[in-house]
Amino acid sequence: MKKRLAILGSTGSIGTQALQVVAEHPDRYEVRVLTAYSHADALIGQAVRFEPDAVVIVDETQYNKVREALSNRPVKVYCGAKALCEVVQMDNVDVVLTATVGFSGLEPTIAAIRAGKQIALANKETLVVAGELITALSAQHKAPILPVDSEHSAIFQCLVGENPDNVDKLLLTASGGPFRQLTKEQLSTVSAAQALQHPTWHMGAKITIDSATMMNKGFEIIEAKWLFGIDAQHIEVLIHPQSIVHSAVQYRDGTVKAQLGLPDMRLPIQYALSFPERLSLSGQRLNLFETGALTFEQPDLERFPCLGIAYQAISRGGNMPCILNAANEVANLAFRQNKITFPQLNQIIATTMQRVSFEPSPSLNTLLQTDLESRAIATELSN
Ligand code: MG
Repeated sequence: MKKRLAILGSTGSIGTQALQVVAEHPDRYEVRVLTAYSHADALIGQAVRFEPDAVVIVDETQYNKVREALSNRPVKVYCGAKALCEVVQMDNVDVVLTATVGFSGLEPTIAAIRAGKQIALANKETLVVAGELITALSAQHKAPILPVDSEHSAIFQCLVGENPDNVDKLLLTASGGPFRQLTKEQLSTVSAAQALQHPTWHMGAKITIDSATMMNKGFEIIEAKWLFGIDAQHIEVLIHPQSIVHSAVQYRDGTVKAQLGLPDMRLPIQYALSFPERLSLSGQRLNLFETGALTFEQPDLERFPCLGIAYQAISRGGNMPCILNAANEVANLAFRQNKITFPQLNQIIATTMQRVSFEPSPSLNTLLQTDLESRAIATELSN
């Protein structure tokens, strides 16, 4: 039986690599649903090649273009964000890969979990914003969540066959981003264009900026906390510029199990889809003779305050990580549009966290409200 996939965000970096995995294993996977935000041409091309039953273009202004281009094919074309919540529930879908960007991934992920679908989670913001709610729903509906994020896939692979009670701590590696070696003074003048030159990973624009500020690592601590049920005090961040050790787990006898590989997102995508099996993967192999030295250092919270801000949000809990995420989405975009400086980015997030009302145990509705309120404040601060 082939696994039938819905890929949310199929024209982005993770989505296109997921389709490469599908193309490499046509005997294992078939695509039933593809969705894109606004890249109509790319979505049309993917639909022609992979023949899904349904596609969604979220941007309604692109709807006619997609519909007309696919009019003589047996594929249903929908538009708008609400359609995402419907297509993930289709009977002919087994696995939903969530590779959309930001808060927009939350509601479709919840809809998919409620329909009992297996989740291959690439949209980490979902767990940042609503980790408690999502993990409870996942248990209730027996809808497993498998990590696609490279670090979490590494940890997941290190945990296979182990008793979770024996875990001492998770060692979460970080490349340190493009500004790892800059001084605080140099950081005050860096541009978005410079930040978009990531040294080891080629990713979408939003996550590349999050990597430059290290907010991405803050989010990944929260993501790891919910995925593996481990408190943030037992998750250690290590700067590892070579991006070869994708993360590790230390056990109570002192043993460290790590997962190593070249930086290639196809591997964690494929593992999330194939687990518990491991399949072949084309391309370059890690050769340790050619790798050179692997180094590890402590993160510098003075130069990269976003990581410290994320730790604060985790320890407050409640809707604070949701505020963190919303303020970050606004500030991240404002920085990409050259409206704010690099140091302003973390200031806007910290100020938004002080201003929005705190809720210790938010419902989904409270989180939706928190998101709106936080965006309004952060937008005002960015102008
Ligand atoms: Mg990652």
